[in-house]
Amino acid sequence: MTHTRSLLVTGASRGIGASVARLAARAGYRVAINFVSDSDAADRIVRDIQAEGGEAFAIRGDIASEPDVLAMFAAVEERFGRIDALVNNAGIVDRKSRLDEMDASRLERMMKVNVVGPMLCTRQAVRRMSTRHGGRGGVIVNVSSMAAELGSPSLYVDYAASKGAIDTFTRGLALEVAAEGIRVNGVRPGIIETDIHASRGEPDWPKEIADSLPMRRTGQPDEVARAVLYLLSDDASYVTGSILNVSGGR
Ligand code: NAP
Repeated sequence: MTHTRSLLVTGASRGIGASVARLAARAGYRVAINFVSDSDAADRIVRDIQAEGGEAFAIRGDIASEPDVLAMFAAVEERFGRIDALVNNAGIVDRKSRLDEMDASRLERMMKVNVVGPMLCTRQAVRRMSTRHGGRGGVIVNVSSMAAELGSPSLYVDYAASKGAIDTFTRGLALEVAAEGIRVNGVRPGIIETDIHASRGEPDWPKEIADSLPMRRTGQPDEVARAVLYLLSDDASYVTGSILNVSGGR
């Protein structure tokens, strides 16, 4: 590595994104920690990284808002000079529901945050990384979900469909920019112990479902983060357009 790589992780104040940020900082990346509302949590991650000798800063921004995304990328450039890697991790889920009981505002929000948001962020990254635009290349990792394969009937088909869109986006974009120095890959986590389950009103769900999973346990955020770090790294130099299941077999 000839320079310290800079990385933006969306939704890095908690859960999987926070793990990615910590492990990336340990691997030598300068890390921009995006969050939308929990500035205390984001500041804690920054302090933890700095305490270990790493470099990080927190940046508020709603990935579903174009002005916020433009401001986020401008801040990363101002702070780090360039961006080498992007992890599109921020995402939302909603309460267990059948489609015929969901209102339109839920559907619009789901698609805006989980699909349009990563696309807005990625567009800014490609404009800076692509050799077509005078950039030096880069790496993008999209955080999908096993829900994209399973469909999540009677749970949240809207969320599952948003992640299906991310998988298609990953494959298509990887080919679109393959000759421009950018690799694009995805991970599909299974059930991982984070706050996301509480956010949809079922904080104990990981515990309840653990015994029914192939490995008889749910996953930890670091187990997903390690897969993300691999895809970001030069060890994955010939890997693009791939989606890695990190789901304990389901
Ligand atoms: P989490 O613990 O709920 O954390 C979500 C993170 O995203 C927080 O940092 C939050 O910021 C941020 N965020 C939410 N909406 C945002 C927005 N509009 N703009 C910017 N940031 C936003 O979630 P997680 O479980 O770590 O999930 C991370 C990713 O993994 C998501 O894409 C999720 O779909 C995917 N995933 C998770 C699981 C699982 O079981 N946990 C399984 C499959 C896939 P604040 O702290 O400011 O709210």
